[in-house]
Amino acid sequence: MTALGLSDELLGAFMPVVVYWVYSGMYMAFGSCDNYRLHPKQEEDEKNLVSKRTVIKGVLLIQFLQVTAAILLYMVIGGNDAGASAAQPSSFIVIARQFIVAMVVLDTYQYFLHRYIHHNKFLYRHLHSRHHRLVVPYTFGAIYNHPLEAFIFDTVGGALAFVVSGMSPRASIFFFSFGTIKSVDDHCGILLPGNPFHFFFRNNTAFHDLHHQLYGGKYNFSQPFFVMWDRILGTYMPYSLEKRGGGFQLRPGKTCKDN
Ligand SMILES: [Zn+2]
Ligand SMILES: [Zn+2]
Repeated sequence: MTALGLSDELLGAFMPVVVYWVYSGMYMAFGSCDNYRLHPKQEEDEKNLVSKRTVIKGVLLIQFLQVTAAILLYMVIGGNDAGASAAQPSSFIVIARQFIVAMVVLDTYQYFLHRYIHHNKFLYRHLHSRHHRLVVPYTFGAIYNHPLEAFIFDTVGGALAFVVSGMSPRASIFFFSFGTIKSVDDHCGILLPGNPFHFFFRNNTAFHDLHHQLYGGKYNFSQPFFVMWDRILGTYMPYSLEKRGGGFQLRPGKTCKDN
């Protein structure tokens, strides 16, 4: 039990929901940030194929299902810190290694699924096209997906990363919260100067924004952390960022193949 009287498993299930809305809310509090946007603000409503109200309802449903599934999964597989090791906190090196393993596992799992779900027209039409209704992504649309896709990608992928890395439920609170913040940031559509995600990760807002464009559906499948699988398998699309009147214009670095 933690100081709050909540178990690590409960916090692991709920904290990603809390940080999702807090981090999204922070961006909203910044205002429209017109000088740093990849798309003019009004294009969120002009180009996107779904209303914000529908997105909020869709995200809340997914989060309800994910919290329920996470609690059940922790009950079934949450024994990573059972036994003697639970008494001693893991060292920083051990936790860092577990985080890296979990990141690589999640990236590998999601890259191949993501690429396949674009390739298979039936699955794209019935599942993944929902996420791509947001041509102009914004923070709280980050996990707007079909609930079945959300389960397969995030719940199963997260469980796999948790089990393979051997991290404790307590470490997983931080890992899943970090992954959630990263996903929200990747969909923020705003390149604020000094954003550490944009500095430390090549897989970032601009990289993922390219994937959301109509020309980008065959590129930049990697998520949520690194770009290695796109690089290795030739689906990496370089890009440049040019200043336009207020904000940035993202341009693909090569000619994109038709979808
Ligand atoms: Zn996609
Ligand atoms: Zn996305």
